[in-house]
Amino acid sequence: MERDNSISMDATLEKLTLRKQPSKSGFFVIIFLYLLVSVFTTMTARSSNSVVVLGVDVPMTAFTGVFSAAINICMIFLVVFYRKIGLITSIFLIVIQFPMIIINFLIRHNTSSIPGLFTNLFTILALIILYINGIRVSKYQRSIRAQAITDSLTGLPNRFACTELINNLVKRDIGFTVVSVDLNNFKNINDTMGHDVGNKILVEIAHRWKALADSWESSTVDFVTRLGGDEFAIIIREYKFDKDILGTINRYKDELEKVITIDECDYYMSACFGYAEYPTDVKNGALVLAYADAALHEIKRQNSSNCILHYTKDLTMTDKTLDIERKIRVALDADSVYFNLQPQYDMSHNLRGFEALARMKDSEGDIISPGEFIPIAEATGLIDKIDLRVLSKAAKFVSDIVKEKETDILVSFNVSVKHLMKNNFIDEIMSILDEYKVTPAHFELEVTESIMIDSTDTALQKINEAKNLGFKIAIDDFGTGYSSLSYLNRLPADILKIDKSFIDEMNSSESSKQYVASIISIGRVMNLEIISEGVETADQLDTLKEIGCDYIQGYIWGRPMPPEEAIKLV
Ligand code: C2E
Ligand code: MG
Ligand code: MG
Repeated sequence: MERDNSISMDATLEKLTLRKQPSKSGFFVIIFLYLLVSVFTTMTARSSNSVVVLGVDVPMTAFTGVFSAAINICMIFLVVFYRKIGLITSIFLIVIQFPMIIINFLIRHNTSSIPGLFTNLFTILALIILYINGIRVSKYQRSIRAQAITDSLTGLPNRFACTELINNLVKRDIGFTVVSVDLNNFKNINDTMGHDVGNKILVEIAHRWKALADSWESSTVDFVTRLGGDEFAIIIREYKFDKDILGTINRYKDELEKVITIDECDYYMSACFGYAEYPTDVKNGALVLAYADAALHEIKRQNSSNCILHYTKDLTMTDKTLDIERKIRVALDADSVYFNLQPQYDMSHNLRGFEALARMKDSEGDIISPGEFIPIAEATGLIDKIDLRVLSKAAKFVSDIVKEKETDILVSFNVSVKHLMKNNFIDEIMSILDEYKVTPAHFELEVTESIMIDSTDTALQKINEAKNLGFKIAIDDFGTGYSSLSYLNRLPADILKIDKSFIDEMNSSESSKQYVASIISIGRVMNLEIISEGVETADQLDTLKEIGCDYIQGYIWGRPMPPEEAIKLV
């Protein structure tokens, strides 16, 4: 495939670091002026006439100095603006005068031109000094400009260079795709292994990706830039179909996911990729990166095993957030927030209990996924209403079971950090249980480990209170937060829920399996039971049995279901 080199990464960066080139016509204008002024100099030098200036009789020869100064200015302009070619031209114009001067001296014995010879030699010297100095200054300017467009850690082009590249393509009306990339769990590495290791990992990733972009192995032309922190952007062009873009993104993904060894430790990195196409998705070039970011944030938020997302219109967040917020309010008013129950089993398939999961329909009856409305409910302060609505339905479910089946049952419910921090949190949940005449012993309160970062002491106090009242405590999504083990050890938890993302990866390599096994060991040390979330396959189940997990919750043995169905399992 033909490649247009003028918009390759290097060519564009080159352009950014270069000063603007003066025009060719300017060069000829200066030469013309030089010749014109030279003619005047000769004419005035030989003239015996005089002119009247302000009533004074001035001989023409007096203007010779003015014109010869103008000649020097022309030469200075040539060297300053046209550098090497200007210097060569100036020296040439001076040197061609030498034979005339020498002939005048040798044949006509005219000594008056000898001072001119020395003046010319000194002019050449001055021009050379000017030229060398000019080179030094521009070298310095170039290095400063290069610093302004380069990320100092990785040597990749930085955010500024990225936007310049985008502007350049937009100006030339060339279609392209921007992929916004964010590394997963990079903060964990920085926090646990230190910034030095974090930096080395970033440098290694940059090195691999740059090599991949330069190798032109793919059918597309790619630019890799680092936007800052663990964020990168890849600009892809020269593709025909969507699958070409995906092919290229997958190449970068594969390259990233190869083991990175730093100081004899192996690291397995992964990332999320969001992308947007110009002009198909966005007509305004200035927004492509923002749209790619929107796709990136969406895929991060979904926290699914798929880590690449193409921008779609509905991701333009502000409108969407407002819309969902409105839908949550309507659903709360119409009491159309409901819940599903997902069964939890021990390893021999005996029912342990259920997790109550919030569900919501909009006024048209379409289901809105919790991944979508929970974060918005958290951001808009509506989450506690949802938590309480779910708890209240769960309490009714428990009360029905206790009455009908005269058996014990355990129901877990999720509590958002924001809700838990509220002063009257305990009163609120207790009044619901009182209403249905059920005791806390039937309930398990799920908190995420992020609770330990946001406000440790208040959180601990609330959780301790709940525990003393008889609630069980579960640490949800374990492994995805950044809390330290010493903090977690202070939580009076009963059970640890291993996040689905670890279960997804578990059978992909021995080290991933050992990772889950070590989480289980940590749980044992902390005297906790262990439940694995999101178990979908028989292989996963076998591995979990082998490494000693206590319980599972996942599609393999039961999806979230309405209470009427759940009751049949009891
Ligand atoms: P979570 O508490 O970690 O809940 C487990 C999620 O994993 C649920 O997603 C469940 O449907 C899903 N899941 C379980 N097994 C599998 C499986 O085998 N495969 C797959 N693909 N998924 C599985 P869901 O219902 O979408 O809920 C998402 C999150 O929303 C929950 O994660 C929880 O953090 C939050 N959430 C749900 N209900 C409430 C609530 O009432 N209050 C609060 N504060 N948060 C809630
Ligand atoms: Mg949960
Ligand atoms: Mg979870």
